[in-house]
Amino acid sequence: MTMDQTDSAAPNENIQAQGRLRQIKSSEDHRSLELIDAWYTIIPAQLSSKLLAHLKNVLPEDKHSLNHLRRLVKIDSENTSQVCLKVIVCTVDTVADKQQIVQFVRDALGDSLDNVTVDTAKIPRFQAYTKEQAAEWSSQSWPILWRGNPAAIKTALDDKEVDRIVHYLGVVSEMSKNADSSQLPVATIIVDPIRDRIVARQCDDRNGSGNPLAHSIMNAAVEAARVEAERRENGNAIENNNTNTNGNEDGNGNEEDKDGDDRNYLCLDMHVYTTHEPCVMCAMALIHSRIARLVYIHPSPKTGAIEPSSGAGTCVHWTKGLNWKYEAWRWLGPDYDVSLLSENVNA
Ligand SMILES: [Zn+2]
Repeated sequence: MTMDQTDSAAPNENIQAQGRLRQIKSSEDHRSLELIDAWYTIIPAQLSSKLLAHLKNVLPEDKHSLNHLRRLVKIDSENTSQVCLKVIVCTVDTVADKQQIVQFVRDALGDSLDNVTVDTAKIPRFQAYTKEQAAEWSSQSWPILWRGNPAAIKTALDDKEVDRIVHYLGVVSEMSKNADSSQLPVATIIVDPIRDRIVARQCDDRNGSGNPLAHSIMNAAVEAARVEAERRENGNAIENNNTNTNGNEDGNGNEEDKDGDDRNYLCLDMHVYTTHEPCVMCAMALIHSRIARLVYIHPSPKTGAIEPSSGAGTCVHWTKGLNWKYEAWRWLGPDYDVSLLSENVNA
């Protein structure tokens, strides 16, 4: 296992393989505490269920997620005869009018309260990235409910994975070097990581085909789809044969476990190696293809769609709201001799 952290690494940055690979996440991963205003009220603990049930019926859907927060917070008091709670009602962005909030609470609890207290509190807008950060943010604002944060999971690469990455980046850099001089030096392979086998290898063909969409990743995705469709059409007989000669008993069995929908994604869980950080079109194509991992050699500061500092900072591979994400890694080592593109050219 290699888990090197360089001194120059930004907070939360994940550097692997003796400093040769950097995991690229969106800038939101590196965010600091951001606060928004929320309405809260103070009630005796025994009324909390009644209040929450009523609020559920009358409140519009909140404009912010509150799932990462403790909705109810006990107030420390000398008076142990009655436990009181602070309860988040909703964010101010969702309901701006304080009188409306007071009315909600009054409607819920009726005569049970002598007077209704409603005030605003600063709450963390997002879940923290570590348990320690959650504790720190909680002490500075509203308490966070820490149940982990899937987006914060760092992927550690073991030595064997790094070996395969080095090998496959060598393949794409050779393809790039050997490309026809009239073509752009962008090359891509798609690898089935379970079988450790290249399923598609394509160079950029915009200049050859005259097709402006013939980026290497698009070409490779088309090839992978064709190969996979053929494989399925030819049935599993050939595959079973290969599986047996490889001694890989799991090769076919895994696939049967996947549900029908997954099988519609022809690049499901594949790894993509390419020479240059992809453009928005290609990065989106990889979302649609359901790949697991992207590794590239050169960043594309003006046109890339992966790094927070590239292009418009879209970080397509890690976009909130899309139903798929993939890992992205940039090679930091000096080992590959791949030509750069003009800065405004999409890879
Ligand atoms: Zn592209």
